[in-house]
Amino acid sequence: MAKIYFIDVTNRDGVQTARLGLAKLEKTMINTYLNEMGVFQSEFGFPTTRHESFYLRANLELARMGVLQPIRLGGWVRAVVEDVERAFQFVPGIKHLNLSISTSDQMIQGKFQGTKSPEDVIGMMVEAVDAARAHGAESVGVNAEDASRADPGFLVAFASAARQHGADRIRYCDTLGYDNPFTIYDAVRTLAGNVGLPVEIHCHGDLGMAVANSLAGAKGAIDGGTDAYINTTINGIGERAGNADLVATALAIIKSKGFAEKYQIGDPIDLTKAWKISRFASYAFGVPIPANQPGVGANVFVHESGIHADAVLKDPGNYELYSFDEVGRGEPEIVESGSEVCSGEYGGISGFKHVMGQMAVRFKGPAQAEKILELARYANVASQRPLVADELLFIAKYPGIAKKLLTLIPPSK
Ligand SMILES: [Zn+2]
Repeated sequence: MAKIYFIDVTNRDGVQTARLGLAKLEKTMINTYLNEMGVFQSEFGFPTTRHESFYLRANLELARMGVLQPIRLGGWVRAVVEDVERAFQFVPGIKHLNLSISTSDQMIQGKFQGTKSPEDVIGMMVEAVDAARAHGAESVGVNAEDASRADPGFLVAFASAARQHGADRIRYCDTLGYDNPFTIYDAVRTLAGNVGLPVEIHCHGDLGMAVANSLAGAKGAIDGGTDAYINTTINGIGERAGNADLVATALAIIKSKGFAEKYQIGDPIDLTKAWKISRFASYAFGVPIPANQPGVGANVFVHESGIHADAVLKDPGNYELYSFDEVGRGEPEIVESGSEVCSGEYGGISGFKHVMGQMAVRFKGPAQAEKILELARYANVASQRPLVADELLFIAKYPGIAKKLLTLIPPSK
């Protein structure tokens, strides 16, 4: 039986969202949290973008060190040979790529302005797949941008060509959030059944259906006989109204009525990490978690009205579909209400040693403490907010990697 896998795209679709972004250390922490959670792949960035190079290479190094294992790290580029070449030039160790190109008449006409036909689009895509394979890519996904507005027959031809050239997956992109659960089920089932290539489901929330569409799309892929790879982002952060939320999608697959009896997750997702990853992304993006956010919102385990409160006191199952500890909640949290010392770009050794000492980090000597402090200062320059304990611990544990993450060298010409 085919299975469902998660490809989280926070570090690609999430960070390309207007007005939002993440420092390279923050992106790295997200990769480590996704790995802890059991997510199959992180779309970890843009290999053709120069300021990503050091970050991407450092994360691949973490993978080689066994720190970012077993998660796969996949880069996103346009499906053009030039981008594939550049990706391997800038990030030589990259193993997994997704290649993206527009597939709807609207975009082929609207973007290329009559210079490219649908056949040209297929030609560009297969050349890019060939180039990725020639460079030794271990896996190649092909993204059909705006698939929900594309001609279904063209999509089948596009995906078949991708498969013939050795692509591993086809990404069905509901780029504008146009689908509903019924249309995406039919579209993905048709694609999977006719082409036999595993389908990625990439949904947006412009009509508030990203999670529902992701489930319906995954069902379509599996009913069509292939594995499904759902694209998610943490807290649903993504272009415009956002993407399918990671935690909500996992909850929907595991907890919704009857779904998991037939449609199962391939690599188990550890939902007890939900609270931590969601809180970190909220802090790093500077976007609060809505009070009614599934699983992680402030209100989702709070009961006030008489009938509900009485019933929950007797048995939480009366009004709770899942319990707080299943999503990693319930641990007491310390909120400092008195004097506090935090990390910062202008911090000094005394305050830094105090902060690290609270986490029981001991330095071998003054030189080592100064070295880690200097890296923490640079991390603060990039994030412009106090670092969290996990970030400080990461820097102390992997100073060599941290230095690479914090390196930004603009091109000289
Ligand atoms: Zn997207």
